[in-house]
Amino acid sequence: MATGACLCGGVGWRVDEAGFHHMSHCHCSMCRKAHGAAFATYATVARSAFERTGDAALVVERQSSPGFHRAFCRTCGAVVPSLNNGDTVYVPVGGMHDDPGWRASHHIFTAHAAPWHRIADTLPRHALYRPGEAGPVVERPAPVDGDGVAGSCLCGAVAFAVTAPFRVVHNCHCTRCRRARQAAHTTNGFVAIDDFRWRRGAAGVVLYRLPEARVFAHAFCRLCGSGMPRITDAGDTAILPLGALDSDPGRQADDHIFTDFATPWYEGEDGLPRHPGPPPPS
Ligand SMILES: [Zn+2]
Ligand SMILES: [Zn+2]
Ligand SMILES: [Zn+2]
Repeated sequence: MATGACLCGGVGWRVDEAGFHHMSHCHCSMCRKAHGAAFATYATVARSAFERTGDAALVVERQSSPGFHRAFCRTCGAVVPSLNNGDTVYVPVGGMHDDPGWRASHHIFTAHAAPWHRIADTLPRHALYRPGEAGPVVERPAPVDGDGVAGSCLCGAVAFAVTAPFRVVHNCHCTRCRRARQAAHTTNGFVAIDDFRWRRGAAGVVLYRLPEARVFAHAFCRLCGSGMPRITDAGDTAILPLGALDSDPGRQADDHIFTDFATPWYEGEDGLPRHPGPPPPS
């Protein structure tokens, strides 16, 4: 049995490996927003091989595109598997406790990939679905006006803008970031607070603080669970998940940090500097 959980541990799951079908990296805008990450990694497993554990009352289920359901934990905002997709359960591999031994066989929705992310492995890439598979293709509305780089959550309740270049952008592989995003790693941009503003819905952003952590916190939309910007406790910096962006920030991440904690199931040798722990002082 392979096990996983959300960031707070309130929602968990168990998967009988015999029910594993395949695993893929999805670059669609829905996954990017739901996770607040460059891409999401899902294991497709049989419903009969999947068991949810923990507190079912914490799970918020919603339909994100026609016929497709996503779910998240209302306490911590982490994506959790939905039980409303028929005979199949899509398990976010970023939430697995140990290496389940699963490996991705391909990328999907690369036609919708984030312009700021470079796919660096040699797995087959499919522009949309894998041949023989079909489903809805959702086009996100383009950002409306031109003041800065725009971002929003999956349901649209929360939107924000960044009006100056990011000071720094890190791909972070630490365990907390991975659990919060339920993805291989985060890509977080840092901007001075004066260069950030909420366009709407700020009151609907929940901040979850990990009890045992000194500074780690995860912000998400109360309605859809999408990873959202958070303001540091000092109040001087906004930290943004690039997965939430609707427009191109015009740059890639600067580096990978905490690579000592990187998952064994994602190869990301994209040429960016890799730091085993925190970023070196700038
Ligand atoms: Zn949780
Ligand atoms: Zn997707
Ligand atoms: Zn939302």
